[in-house]
Amino acid sequence: MSIRVQALTKLYGQQKAVDGISFSAGPGVLGFLGPNGAGKSTTMKILTCFIPQTAGTASVCGFDVIANPLDVRRHIGYLPESNPLYLDMYVKESLGFIAGIHKIHEPEKRIATIIEQTGLGPEQHKKIGQLSKGYRQRVGLAQAILHNPDVLILDEPTSGLDPNQLIGIRQLILELGKTKTIILSTHIMQEVEAVCNNVIIINQGKIVADDTLQGLRNKNINSTLEQIFISLTSN
Ligand code: ADP
Repeated sequence: MSIRVQALTKLYGQQKAVDGISFSAGPGVLGFLGPNGAGKSTTMKILTCFIPQTAGTASVCGFDVIANPLDVRRHIGYLPESNPLYLDMYVKESLGFIAGIHKIHEPEKRIATIIEQTGLGPEQHKKIGQLSKGYRQRVGLAQAILHNPDVLILDEPTSGLDPNQLIGIRQLILELGKTKTIILSTHIMQEVEAVCNNVIIINQGKIVADDTLQGLRNKNINSTLEQIFISLTSN
């Protein structure tokens, strides 16, 4: 398994944002669902070494987030919810900058491959600030996958996109999920149906469902995914 989380807890002051969760994930797309404030982003930030946990352990490709943060970063790509980008940089320039950070061998070649893979070709000579939201998300994804990580953490990568942009990004996620372990947080149940193999539902810092998409459906035969979500998280 590429991701292993054991009894993970995060306290912000007195508040328990993540409350003793355990799960593991391997190649494929894992939908990470839950109401706002459930603890999804906090878990993602711990897995990507942005913040330390209060208790428990988390590892990525066998590397512990506290003991081996540089190895974790080498194996993980992260698209945060806010997708922070340097708006004054040109698309290619920004990818060159990230390639430099990762000391990527033959950066021009890799950047050309990634531009092709993420469909950035038509917009590659523009400044990021001139791009639509859909293309900005593609740049965020391109930056996250440039060093070819085994694990991808995508925090609401399709929020605010129009239906055409949405389909493009989803296809890309599906393609990447064939070889990589992807944790995808989203509020869009259609998206879960379209791209996820497995689903974790988190509520008030605790896991309330951890199953395959099919398994979740089989256990709730007459319910839609939305109804399952609501019944598990409405308290
Ligand atoms: P989600 O991503 O599921 O919406 P978060 O992980 O962002 O949830 O937040 C979980 C809880 O932790 C929320 O109640 C949120 O207000 C709180 N929280 C998140 N970040 C901080 C922080 N830096 N300081 C204090 N509380 C925080």
